[in-house]
Formats: sequence, C-alpha cells, structure tokens
Amino acid sequence: MAEYDYDLFTIGAGSGGVRASRVAAAHGARVAIAEEYRVGGTCVIRGCVPKKMLVYGAHFAEDLEDATRFGWEIGNAKFDWKRLRDNVLADVDRLNGLYTQTLENNGVDIFGERATITGPHEITLASGETKTARIILIATGARPHVPSIPGHDLGITSNEAFHLDAIPDRILIAGGGYIANEFAGVFNALGAKVTIVNRSDKLLRGYEEALRDRLLQISITKGIDFRFNADLRGIEKNPDGSLKVSMTNNDPIDVDCVLFATGRVPNIEGLGLEAAGVEVNDHGAVTVDDEARTNIASIYAVGDVTNRVQLTPVAIREGQAFADRVFGDKPSKVDYSCIPAAVFSHPPIASVGLTEAQANEQLGSVAVYTSDFRPMKNALVQRNERALYKMICDGETGRVVGLHAIGPEAPEIIQAAAIAVKAGLTKADFDATVAVHPTMAEELVLLK
Ligand code: NDP
Repeated sequence: MAEYDYDLFTIGAGSGGVRASRVAAAHGARVAIAEEYRVGGTCVIRGCVPKKMLVYGAHFAEDLEDATRFGWEIGNAKFDWKRLRDNVLADVDRLNGLYTQTLENNGVDIFGERATITGPHEITLASGETKTARIILIATGARPHVPSIPGHDLGITSNEAFHLDAIPDRILIAGGGYIANEFAGVFNALGAKVTIVNRSDKLLRGYEEALRDRLLQISITKGIDFRFNADLRGIEKNPDGSLKVSMTNNDPIDVDCVLFATGRVPNIEGLGLEAAGVEVNDHGAVTVDDEARTNIASIYAVGDVTNRVQLTPVAIREGQAFADRVFGDKPSKVDYSCIPAAVFSHPPIASVGLTEAQANEQLGSVAVYTSDFRPMKNALVQRNERALYKMICDGETGRVVGLHAIGPEAPEIIQAAAIAVKAGLTKADFDATVAVHPTMAEELVLLK
C-alpha cells in the first residue's frame, strides 16, 4: 500500500498550480489539487484574460470614431456594458471548464475547497477531511493589496471591476502601475471620467522612462486626469451616495467608484505555514530556492505566492520546471533573464531587457536608437498619437540588450522581437533583416 494518499498535493488551481499538477500527473504521479474559488486562478478568472477582452471591447470606441475617416457611416453607435460584461464572464466560464477538464483528463483529483497544511506531508480540507502527500506544492497566488485608509471598504479592486452593474460616471483609480493604467484606458474609452491618483510622480516604475512619459502625455490627451504625489487619506460617503476621496497635496475629489490598483500581496493567510514551519520573507512571500523548494524538504512553492516575478507565463514556467524536476526526472530551471512584459494600456507598452538607465548602470558603454513615428493608421484618421520605439545596445559589442515600444500592437511586436534579444543578436543582425513594408514592426530593423 502506498505510504501517502498522493505523490503531489497542490494548493491553488491558478496558472502555476494547474501546470505543475497536469505535468506531474502526465509524468505518472498521483496528483490532487485544492481550489477554494474557481479553477483557472487570477489570470483566467479575474485578471489577464477578461481584462484583455475588456481592452478589446473598449478599443471599439476609438475604432468606430476612426471608421468615418475610412469612409464608413456608423450611425448611432451605442455601447451596452452589461452585454460586454456578460459575454466576457461567459467566456471565463468556458475557460474555467476547459482548465477543469484538462486536470480531470490527466487524472488529477480536484477538491473545490480550502486546504490547510497541517504537517510536512498532511493537508486538511475545509470539510475536515485530511489527505497525505509525498510533496505539497503551494501555488495560492496573490490578491489585491488595499491600503488601510479610513473608508477603504467603500472601494473596489480589479476582482470586482469585472462584475460592475454599470460603468461609473466618475472613477478614481489609486495606483500608477499595470492595473491602474490598463483599467484607466478601459473606463476612459467606455465613457467614465477617470482620475489616477498616485503616491509618487512616476507611473509604471521599472519601465523605460520615455515610454512612461509618452503614455502619460497620450492619456492626458485622451482625457484621463492625474494627481501625483498624492497619498490617499480616506474615503467618505456623500449624502447623494457618491464618494469623497481625500489625499495629500490635492483637494478632495468626488467620484462614483474608487478602484484600488495598489499592488498585490501573496496569499498565505490561513495556509498553516507557521505551524508547518515554512519560512516567509518580509513581504509575506513564501521563500524558495531556485528549484522552488521551501525550507521544508517536502514543501515547494511556485508563482505569485513567492513574489518574484508576478506574471502568468513565469508562474507557468515555474510549475512546469517543478513538475519536470521532481516527477519527470528532468533537470529543469527557470531562466529569469530577458522576460518580456506588456501593459495593455491605451496605447499598450511592451518591453524586454534593460532600460536605458539600467544599461547605463550595468554596461561600460551604451548605444541607444529611437524611432518616434505616427503609425500610418493614425495619420489617415488625423489622430496625433505617436508611437515610440527604443533599442538599447551594448556600445562595445552591438548586442541588443533592451527593446521598448509604445504604440498599436506593441505587445505582439515585442513578443516576436524578444526572441532575438534573448538569443543575443546584435543591432547589425536587426539591420541585416529586410523590413516587412508597410508595418510598424519594420521600425525595429530600420533604426538609425
Ligand atoms: P503595480 O506594482 O504594477 O503597481 C502598484 C502601484 O500602486 C504603484 O504605482 C505603487 O506605487 C502603488 N502603491 C503600492 N502600494 C501603495 C500604497 N500602499 N498606497 C498607495 N499606492 C501604492 O501593481 P498592480 O496592482 O497594478 O498589479 C499587480 C501586479 O500584477 C503587477 O506588478 C504585475 O506583476 C501583475 N500584472 C500584470 C499585468 C500584465 O502583465 N499586463 C496586468 C496586471 C497586473 P510605487 O510605484 O510608488 O510603488
């Protein structure tokens, strides 16, 4: 008889947990997974996927406006938020079903309830039932961080944004990172008066400065308001039901909705980590080595709960590498260098490798190439919105160490170009590549 009920028990069926469980099962392990909410996790259920659909939906506002310059008469175009919302949520249901099916097809037992670690090899489910496993994987992800200001419970987070009954007339978005800029673009396009309130004077920390400045300038032109160096002080309900938001250095603002986009914190509460002796760092993240091991030999962790790189494709790689290593006998490690990323703002930003400032810190000599251009489509529709591409090279070798773009389809373009950056190609290699004309991506091989 087997010593444990399972070879692997995964807690959390998000991107990292599902990949790890499915691959471990494919390697022949007996696997179970516990999920207290819905299989798919943040990315599929209330993150990347539904967000991207809202971004598509919102972009029609501009596309319909532009269509007249292309000769189309649109007439009385009307937007129905509930229709978009419900279609998006229905697709989320479909994906939730597919993820569940994938686990089932691989023979993974799914427990739709909360799980707590009650020993190095023991899990107790919310029902009180206990299960044992040779290996436990923590893949519980992260959740929105809400600053503890008075009245914070009057605000919402991205979790609730997908379920709103209506687009608010006026929305205040707290934070200046990914979620703030992505939802600002969506709500602004869908007709809300958007104000971004940020504690510093910088948006999207870590991204190339010139692109952040360009996004700010375009966002202001589109009608988004910004309050910088503004620390939120509190939220109160006005007699008419609207919300009064106070902050430092600025007058209070009356809005109909407050959305907190102020970072995400690892989900470790109530997991039993303390009792099990699993180490957690100062940021509340499970501490792991480069093979996803915690300090307890039988317990591993992947994804946002480890708070390394909070991106779905990274969690998926961590889950895959863990399963291959532990159950597939395949030495496998995640390479964290050169991770491309994108912000699905209006317009989007995408990036891979070093920024100019980082390159200046790390390299002896740096060469920078820039293309600042108006995409052909924007020219015809007389939209004065310019794209900006930046290539950062090692001045000595010509190796491309960073690529940064803001403009239509920037994430699609940078994803492909990131292969060349990852492969260590040089500016000369880019120059030797014939352009596809007319495209925006051709700017990358025509940089002077
Ligand atoms: P970000 O880390 O991108 O931005 C958080 C913002 O909130 C920053 O402007 C930060 O300011 C500010 N902030 C943090 N704490 C406080 C506080 N206590 N009071 C006021 N302001 C605060 O987080 P998001 O919430 O936007 O997104 C979370 C993570 O999810 C991202 O880091 C990203 O990894 C991932 N994500 C990825 C997406 C993508 O790939 N397209 C989309 C959405 C999310 P400061 O800069 O001063 O720290």
